[in-house]
Amino acid sequence: MPKKAKSEKLIRRGVRTDGRKIHDLRNIKIEVGPLERADGSAYIEWGNNKILAAVYGPREVHPRHLARPDRAFFRCRYHMAPFSTTERKRPAPSRRERELSKVTRVALEPSILTKLYPRAGIDVFIEILQSDGGTRCAGITAASIALVDAGIPMKDLVAACAAGKIDGKIVLDLNEVEDQEGDADVPVAIMPRTGGISLLQMDGILSQTEFKEALELALEGCKQVYELQKEALTKAYVQEEAPVKDEEKSEGEEQNE
Ligand code: ADP
Repeated sequence: MPKKAKSEKLIRRGVRTDGRKIHDLRNIKIEVGPLERADGSAYIEWGNNKILAAVYGPREVHPRHLARPDRAFFRCRYHMAPFSTTERKRPAPSRRERELSKVTRVALEPSILTKLYPRAGIDVFIEILQSDGGTRCAGITAASIALVDAGIPMKDLVAACAAGKIDGKIVLDLNEVEDQEGDADVPVAIMPRTGGISLLQMDGILSQTEFKEALELALEGCKQVYELQKEALTKAYVQEEAPVKDEEKSEGEEQNE
């Protein structure tokens, strides 16, 4: 987003406009598998962002000429609902949506074992229902969970988070006002087990020292996001299995009676 003219201070006595301290992440809630029709899905609330991610595949690729002989064809679509922002958003696909679709694909693809599915297609759809800055990172984080939910073999999860500069300070996880009125934004995505960085962008201007500080802070944010992803998956899969075991146990008990 283009930077707007600064209106008022974004940090007062160490506190940001939404009450956070400079190194605080917004509240994040992840739900695994909310959509029944998709092969895998996830819903994320990241501060005021509300985002759905759906995955289809591996399945036949359409149009067929896009199929690759040695790997799955991996596609991502990032889409912002016209009602997702306070400003009017044109319903037609924008240049920004095309860019963020590509950025999402590039961030996720290194974690996916595409060579296991030659000629097949894997599709990721990200729908921004409500946006408040940092939607690319939240979308990538949700899509990575949806890929797991679809059972797509992966080397690692992908966790994303941004850091940036507002009022001369390096802060974690910029919201929309901070993004628009601040000085810079550095979105980062990592594959936490290997430590590989699959997304690194910079919007705005930072000195070398500031960039290093922002990158380190964003990496810390990614690690916190990774813990929340693991927690959501554990809650969805490990705890879900427990009642089945109980049922099996009671069935066994009934048979013994
Ligand atoms: P990100 O959401 O990844 O931070 P941007 O920096 O491009 O991506 O956008 C920052 C925020 O600005 C978005 O999260 C959204 O709230 C708002 N925004 C972006 N594009 C538009 C648009 N076309 N119309 C209205 N608001 C937008």
